[in-house]
Amino acid sequence: MDNAAIEARVKTLLPAERQLYAERRPKARAMAERKGRGLFDNVPMHWMLDWPMPFPMVIEQASGVHLTDIDGNAAVDLCLGDTGAMFGHGPEPILDVLRNAGHRGLTTMLPSADAEIVGELLAARFGLPHWQIGATASDANRFAIRVARAVTGRRKILVFDGCYHGAVDDTLVDLVNGRTFSRASLLGQVVDLGETTIAIPFNDEEALRNALASGEVACVLAEPVMTNCGMILPAPGFHDTLRRLTREHGTLLLIDETHTISTGLGGYTMLHGLEPDLMVMGKPIGGGVPVSIWGMSAAVAEGLDRARRARDGHGHSGIGTTLSGSALQLACLRASLEKVMISETYATMAARTDIIEAGLITAIAAQGLPWHVTRVGARLEVVFSPEPVRNAVEARQAASSVIEEALHLSLLNRGFLLTPFHNMILVSPALAEAEAQALVAVYGEILARFCQAAE
Ligand code: PMP
Repeated sequence: MDNAAIEARVKTLLPAERQLYAERRPKARAMAERKGRGLFDNVPMHWMLDWPMPFPMVIEQASGVHLTDIDGNAAVDLCLGDTGAMFGHGPEPILDVLRNAGHRGLTTMLPSADAEIVGELLAARFGLPHWQIGATASDANRFAIRVARAVTGRRKILVFDGCYHGAVDDTLVDLVNGRTFSRASLLGQVVDLGETTIAIPFNDEEALRNALASGEVACVLAEPVMTNCGMILPAPGFHDTLRRLTREHGTLLLIDETHTISTGLGGYTMLHGLEPDLMVMGKPIGGGVPVSIWGMSAAVAEGLDRARRARDGHGHSGIGTTLSGSALQLACLRASLEKVMISETYATMAARTDIIEAGLITAIAAQGLPWHVTRVGARLEVVFSPEPVRNAVEARQAASSVIEEALHLSLLNRGFLLTPFHNMILVSPALAEAEAQALVAVYGEILARFCQAAE
């Protein structure tokens, strides 16, 4: 059966799934339909309406992998705040910090006593010697890009088509007929981002070679595995080529590990020996508290120091935000690095993910669906194509918003919350073995239903 036939079948199921979702959530519906002053769109961030739900569920309680909404519905969380809660909602060491560290001060705009040890922990964990703290991964990417431009004296950056690195204008571009444009959905941008950003297809060594040859590219910003356009694995040898070519052309390599930190201890970078010049991470690094980190090689740090001294070293560098590097962040980072983000945690995540991966492969095969499962550590993606996709064009061809919505709602109505905008399952160490097995069983039933729907 091809995806068009599956789409036709699931369309017949969707109205009942939407109705069931809505019937179970009268309070959330009333909040969504509220009129008058208050939050724009009745949500704290307007894109929260983009989930494939008739209206957002409203969370009363999140603990471990268990969510309860204000209407009393429970769900096992496989989205985990799109990675912010990858280690579970409220890991105990982080809750301890929140309970006890507050009295030592939340934010002073000065280093706290945890600063020194946090720096050492980061250097040991991720390889790069010098680190700075931000609030979000978007911030960290902006700062790292700024440093790359300052150090190299070059204007352009290179990203891969289909990327997402946060609310960072330079990266919000589309590749259309071989040219780079500001992303069609981007609001309020008045500069042609194609002037300063080059987008090329992932895994395209020739396009990379051509783009770097101009000598204008300050840095390549890349996720080791593309996780925001379905999931696109690097072709064998692609990272070696990327590193070799960037070095040859004096371009810095900036690796964004925000999602691929699911790979294991030290992220994809440490497990696969990527040797970046700059690295960024956010989301789960502080156990769910807003913290991000960005690291530099010794050479980049020296370059930053030179660039800074050439400009007097004081005033507005464009790198900042007042609450960044706060005592609260450093205390949470320390607890996370010492007690949460540790090998034992990753081992549990891997064991649960093994169960789910094997189960999904079996469920897909049982229905003869032309789909496959892609994985990076504790992160699994069901891709609606028989073979792995190599770039964003192939990923978009394999995507189906109708099947995605049907999967998402069917699973949620049976107690499991997927990550929106693709079919991502993130496995927290708090997920019990029985829950992993229950997910596999429910997934299998749903796929069988999809394949019988119109018969
Ligand atoms: N980098 C990557 C790879 C991401 O997926 C995201 C967010 N999904 C970000 C950066 C931005 O993170 P934040 O929203 O925390 O700024």
